Amino acid sequence: MPWYKKLHWQIIIGLLLGLLWGLMSTQTGLNDFTKNYIEPVGVIFVNLLKLIAIPLVLASLVVGVAKLNDITKLSRMGGKTIMIYAATTVCAITIGLIVVNVIQPGKALPEETRIELMASYSENVEQRKDSVEEALERRPLQPVIDIVPENVIQAFIDNSNMLQVVFIAIVLGIGIIQINKKQGEMLVNFFDAFNEVIIKIVDFIMLLAPYGVFALLATVIIDLAGDDLGRALELLKALGWYSAAVIFGLLLHLFIVYTSLFKIFSNMTLSEFFRGIRPAMLLGFSTSSSAATLPVTMERVERNLGVHEEVSSFVLPVGATINMDGTSLYQAVAAVFIAQAVGMDLTIFEQLTIVLTALLASIGAAGVPGAGIIMLVIVLNSVQVPVEGIALILGVDRILDMCRTAVNITGDAAVAVTVASTEGKIVAGNFEE
Ligand code: ASP
Repeated sequence: MPWYKKLHWQIIIGLLLGLLWGLMSTQTGLNDFTKNYIEPVGVIFVNLLKLIAIPLVLASLVVGVAKLNDITKLSRMGGKTIMIYAATTVCAITIGLIVVNVIQPGKALPEETRIELMASYSENVEQRKDSVEEALERRPLQPVIDIVPENVIQAFIDNSNMLQVVFIAIVLGIGIIQINKKQGEMLVNFFDAFNEVIIKIVDFIMLLAPYGVFALLATVIIDLAGDDLGRALELLKALGWYSAAVIFGLLLHLFIVYTSLFKIFSNMTLSEFFRGIRPAMLLGFSTSSSAATLPVTMERVERNLGVHEEVSSFVLPVGATINMDGTSLYQAVAAVFIAQAVGMDLTIFEQLTIVLTALLASIGAAGVPGAGIIMLVIVLNSVQVPVEGIALILGVDRILDMCRTAVNITGDAAVAVTVASTEGKIVAGNFEE
């Protein structure tokens, strides 16, 4: 197959053209045209992905659980998954802390830029206060309570209830194993066929991916730059060290932590892994949403990385909701950056507090654009760094959100490969396609 027909190249081309279009549009006054006629293509693409996420998780997890010949396997797999998720997230936060303490981007921020940023974004922070207060008022065990829905229909209404759907699918799968074999098989066959249909639909949607990505990128650029590209570039420059610290930390995490995971637990090489997962990474980058990317992550992990559905149908939806290595690393860097910029020196004890709170805050962040910065408030509060400091980093948040989301997705896929390897549930994948 010629290179340009490969999916990831088509997505990369869409991405670059979207970037160029966005830049051109801000320079030539075509922003209205882009908003009216190009943005909708991106919105439709993301909606299509979100549309199939819940049916996909339900069907594949019911089948996965119902085909388990041994239910204890499920709890073993669950335990392993949660432990590896927590461990990789703690590694991510630690890397973030090391990088931000070495680079010290907050100290490089000129005083007048700080004042200017605070002034221009403080209104924006005010607007977010409601979501912030909501996040702070939650009881410690509320996330656990939220996993058990009181109504089936309600659980399916909102994509942010993914853990509830996981819960229902597991209960349904276990129920199916317990009933009369013939009847059970009927249901499994039904969900199996349904699952196949959804996977076919994912294939159709992916045909749209290059166009969707083009539209998403063009929209991001005009949202960022507005009519004044020069100002946006200035902002990028002012927050250059901070952005570099986040991106450098994310790269370190990608290469150090996942390489180590594979070395210890799996025979897969990092390059095979990246070749299999790259279209999902690119989509995560373009959509800034782990939840919207989930169908593609699942398809790639199963089909290209060879992970058995029994594992992927459980590990990935849970990961898209609670495992955010990129977000937690970013939160650690952002918290220390703001502290540095306002002249606070955080003690080692305070930095350890960040490890814990960033772990919780990333678990609590939803897989949607901008969720990480809302939950950052929890981290800032825990070490008494002024929440208003968020104004300093808002301007570049969308770009960093794209990068951290790509890492969030990669983290989920890496853990799926790891758990599958330890369970002997991995077959030869098709890394190239
Ligand atoms: N956008 C991220 C995600 O969907 C969450 C975040 O804002 O960090 O994974």
